[in-house]
Amino acid sequence: MQSVVRAIYPPQCVACETLTEAEHGLCGPCWAQTAFISGLVCDTCGALQMGTDEGERVQCDECMTIARPWDQGRAALEYKGIGRRLVLGLKHGDRLDLTWPAAGWMAVRAAALVKENTVIVPVPLHWSRLVKRRYNQAAALAVDLGKHLKRPVFVDALVRLERTKPLDGVGRAARFDMLSGKIQPHPKRSAALRDKSVLIVDDVMTSGATLAAAAEAARMAGAANVSIVTLARVVKDT
Ligand SMILES: [Zn+2]
Ligand SMILES: [Zn+2]
Repeated sequence: MQSVVRAIYPPQCVACETLTEAEHGLCGPCWAQTAFISGLVCDTCGALQMGTDEGERVQCDECMTIARPWDQGRAALEYKGIGRRLVLGLKHGDRLDLTWPAAGWMAVRAAALVKENTVIVPVPLHWSRLVKRRYNQAAALAVDLGKHLKRPVFVDALVRLERTKPLDGVGRAARFDMLSGKIQPHPKRSAALRDKSVLIVDDVMTSGATLAAAAEAARMAGAANVSIVTLARVVKDT
């Protein structure tokens, strides 16, 4: 079956559609232009840090100044160039073909956070947005991440109480105010999170306000500890 699919749809680069050798990935030039994060990272959000990894726990400036209600975090790539294009394609462009390779890159970074009792949960989307967009890109990533990491995924353990306005252009403090308490444990389905290591998945981390609301909800559901993983981390140019 796989070979038939391959003959009809030869593998293409997910960024530029050039034909590639391997299935589900980037061609050489796109790979080189994608800002994958590796080396020394902030243990809380996964942002790349200056220096070499000597096993010490480091935090970025933002995570040292903003309360992060989760324990550890990682991100696969920086939100710029091809990384940014992939995130936008996933969010607005119906590019569900991206979730499998993207979840694979996330799995590489998240592996360090995974424990025996880890369960995976996406940041929820409000139902009205789900109707409009037809899918929750965080849930699609979570499902594929679960396959890569061989961990259970609970797509509706957390729920979004109300629809929040798009956060583009909204300042950091306002984002945290707008999101606070807007994500809650599902009255029944959140039982799956009790006493578990919960790994929360989202496509992109900007201020971290959405992830903070999701992490608080996971704690309310009785999570033993909470980590986050995103496909991309927005980093300010310095
Ligand atoms: Zn390419
Ligand atoms: Zn950080």
